Amino acid sequence: MSDHKRADKAEKLLAVKGMNDILPPDSARWEWLENQVRELMASFAYRNIRTPIVEPTPLFVRSLGEVTDIVEKEMYSFEDRLNGEQLTLRPESTAGVVRAAVEHNMLYDGGKRLYYMGPMFRHERPQRGRYRQFHQIGAEALGFPGPELDAEMILLADALWKALGLTDIQLELNSLGQPEERRQHRAALITYLSQHEQLLDEDAKRRLHLNPLRILDTKNPAMQELVQSAPKMMDFLGAASLEHFNRVRAILDANGLKYSINSRLVRGMDYYNLTVFEFITTELGSQGTICGGGRYDYLVEQVGGKPAPAVGWALGVERVLELMKEQGAPTQDVAPDVFAIVPDTAAYPVATKCLQALRAAGLKVQMHAGTAEGPGSMKSQFKKADASGARFALIFGADELASGEVTVKTLRDGVGSQSRYPLNQTDQWATRLQSEV
Ligand code: ATP
Ligand code: MG
Repeated sequence: MSDHKRADKAEKLLAVKGMNDILPPDSARWEWLENQVRELMASFAYRNIRTPIVEPTPLFVRSLGEVTDIVEKEMYSFEDRLNGEQLTLRPESTAGVVRAAVEHNMLYDGGKRLYYMGPMFRHERPQRGRYRQFHQIGAEALGFPGPELDAEMILLADALWKALGLTDIQLELNSLGQPEERRQHRAALITYLSQHEQLLDEDAKRRLHLNPLRILDTKNPAMQELVQSAPKMMDFLGAASLEHFNRVRAILDANGLKYSINSRLVRGMDYYNLTVFEFITTELGSQGTICGGGRYDYLVEQVGGKPAPAVGWALGVERVLELMKEQGAPTQDVAPDVFAIVPDTAAYPVATKCLQALRAAGLKVQMHAGTAEGPGSMKSQFKKADASGARFALIFGADELASGEVTVKTLRDGVGSQSRYPLNQTDQWATRLQSEV
């Protein structure tokens, strides 16, 4: 049996569960969002960084912490088939960015402000706003110790919501203090939770002595009351940590940013200290956190670099796009400006040359494509031109070409009006069309 026949019978192959295709017209919204992000990042002087999707597994174990949801149960890990190295599809990008910064000595001459976009992988139960391949956009500022950078990060995210036209997003803030303050809080937390051991679920019982802070991050509704009344990190902060937190708040206040302080906000990774924050919406059901971040002053050192402070955040692109839809953001217009009608195959060489010139002049141009038999009737081509949503049809008929011209016909508002233009002076009339699209 030939390959061709076998293909006819083959079973349909589907995408992996929890991993989505992003198709047009939806993909236009993705591109639009990405463009907004690029512009905004540039306006804050953040520069793009692109790191590999696969990293050595120990990078995540070491930086996220062994007793975290991600490392315990969500990583896609595998062994390199040749050298046996343990590898993992990145579940987040902070660890990779920090690894890259250390590996390439990026921190020797002061701080670096960076941003990234790309797919992340976590083996979670797929549901609305929670996928196994999802996308994050993140910003990281490495080498800056001051609270003004924590505030800049938050202002950056807030500016993005504004650029995307999003409203009603709540900012929650907390401080996790410094390691010594954490140790004291941890001891108080263990004492408190031990007194209520009968209320702990299996996960929490196991984490009680391994990583009790993680219990505050529980999604189990039955434990919310318990964690609500747990000892608060804020009460364990020393003077320097409090000062840092208050300076962040002063900058947010001066910029009119509203926030609430949530003492149970601990974030899902172990690497955070001092300021942590989340942006939350009530419009997406239980997957309401669209962005989270904070300061992580000890991670660079943990990944093997010379100690350097850092702060960053990551947002979930799928959740942000879903929120845009919820709030009625208009769909992005992907219609071409011009649809080229080519009545005869012989006209393609001349037509394509003209279309290239129009594109270079900034017009969006769609060329009619026929079948193996030929381009098809004018009537069917005009139908396609209308369906494309283009403002103008260009007709490369034999008559036009004979006199070195092309006919431009208006398809929407003022339908039917038409004129002829010279083929070899596109720049003259391209601007005219441009001003009318
Ligand atoms: P959650 O508490 O919802 O599991 P998280 O604390 O694990 O979130 P982070 O690791 O802080 O999330 O990632 C930053 C953002 O990435 C989240 O606020 C969310 O918007 C998005 N995100 C995280 N996991 C997923 C996922 N599986 N699918 C889609 N988006 C996700
Ligand atoms: Mg999670």
